[in-house]
Amino acid sequence: MLIVMNRDATEEQVNDVIRMITTCGYTAHPIPGGERVSIGVLYNKGAVDDALFRSMPGVKETIPVTKPYKLVSREFHPVDTIVRVGDVSIGGDALVIIGGPCAVESEAQVMAIAGHVKAAGGDILRGGAFKPRTSPYSFHGLGEEGLKILAKAKATFGLPIVTEVMDLSCFDMVEAYADIIQIGTRNMQNFSLLRRAGESKKPILLKRGMSATVDEWLMAAEYVMTEGNTNVILCERGVRTFVRHSRNTLDLSAVPVVKRLSHLPIIVDPSHATGYRDQVMPLARASAAVSAHGLMIEVHHAPETAKCDGGQSLLPDQFAVLCKQVRAIFEVSEGREL
Ligand code: PEP
Ligand code: MN
Repeated sequence: MLIVMNRDATEEQVNDVIRMITTCGYTAHPIPGGERVSIGVLYNKGAVDDALFRSMPGVKETIPVTKPYKLVSREFHPVDTIVRVGDVSIGGDALVIIGGPCAVESEAQVMAIAGHVKAAGGDILRGGAFKPRTSPYSFHGLGEEGLKILAKAKATFGLPIVTEVMDLSCFDMVEAYADIIQIGTRNMQNFSLLRRAGESKKPILLKRGMSATVDEWLMAAEYVMTEGNTNVILCERGVRTFVRHSRNTLDLSAVPVVKRLSHLPIIVDPSHATGYRDQVMPLARASAAVSAHGLMIEVHHAPETAKCDGGQSLLPDQFAVLCKQVRAIFEVSEGREL
């Protein structure tokens, strides 16, 4: 339940409501707003008796929260969350473009690709230093050396970096280098990792589990938020279906659904969703058309030599064309004239 206070409610009235919530055995979560304070009720097992609160001085109304997730829900927090990373705002009124290789392979490779991402107008550089791979025989990333290469590219090109954390053992290290910490599809329900992410001061990019419903995905984000980290970015990256013509099936309907249910920003990764270069561009354009807040695209200057996901990586020229196209499409889909 959400308890909305009157605009002129005093601090004492707010504290009385918080005390009452605690007395009932629940946890109070005050949400300061522009005009008024709201107080969320957390950790209740069943329905909360709203009569207790409705009559308290300073209370405007009580709103039942119908979803199992609370902090993530728009019912609890009607205003869009904007995640700020350096000069980049994710969830605001500009489309954010993240580009870069699947994996950090070498300094020369990252520097070359980062230069292309920057020149094309990309906002954030991606690249995995710890790679979750289906086969134990595949390339698993350069580890800390890869993070250092990303840091160098950041210093050279002024692009914030997003990189994946695979497990608790490398969390502190990834956290020290990353501007945004990515939790991949395979870890979406790794609850200890989610809780650790919730303790971090860095924004978390939470990919949708490959077989996760929207509710399961939002519950995973709730784990992060209950630990205090409100800077969560959701990333649709395709789900497992029966089709064989693409690696996964991009669920673009998740974008408007998540926007209705949650205040968190949602971006789309058409690279992992499709697995094929020729499908990435049309689906990136489609993602901008459904008003996703951003895109994450794999880019490689020599994809035939890539250690990972070369076949789905765009060439730098394709990425540059795409950046222009998706920004124009996004303006139209947001109702702004070109
Ligand atoms: C990635 O973005 O590098 C990645 C491994 O993606 P996903 O977790 O969506 O497969
Ligand atoms: Mn990849």
